[in-house]
Amino acid sequence: MALCENSCPLHMNIPGYLQLLKEGRLEEAFELTLRDNPLPGTVGRICYFHCQMRCRREMVDDPVSQGEIHRYLADTMYKMGKEKEIYQRLIKEKFSQTGKKIAIIGAGPAGLTAAYYLVRLGHRRNYYDNHAKAGGILQYGNTGLPLPKRRTKQRT
Ligand code: SF4
Repeated sequence: MALCENSCPLHMNIPGYLQLLKEGRLEEAFELTLRDNPLPGTVGRICYFHCQMRCRREMVDDPVSQGEIHRYLADTMYKMGKEKEIYQRLIKEKFSQTGKKIAIIGAGPAGLTAAYYLVRLGHRRNYYDNHAKAGGILQYGNTGLPLPKRRTKQRT
């Protein structure tokens, strides 16, 4: 495993989506990104970028900014109107129903991510949150993070 992949908390398949991007296969690069990171447009703006701290490219010039690549892919798919279609493709792969229903406390980014994986594994989920809309701190908090408001709402 590459150092950047190993240091990423999501162990994203960085060489995989970079190769697809290099070949101009944007939709597939986005799909591969979503397999490890269901909120790339958000994570690409707020991650602590552990991967950059281990990027060997720094020995040549600058570390590769994976966050910018997540944002580029998410924003491009959104602009092309392809985002939902690609999420739907992944939803179709979900395992058959297990009959289990799992409670998720909080519908913030962590809760939404957990729900994504649980649904893919065939479980049902139920959110418990004080707020009417999903998004948690990104929707209701004053984070000071560089998140476009419209996009944050889109993710709910
Ligand atoms: S930006 Fe964050 S989520 Fe993305 S590859 Fe780097 S460490 Fe992982």
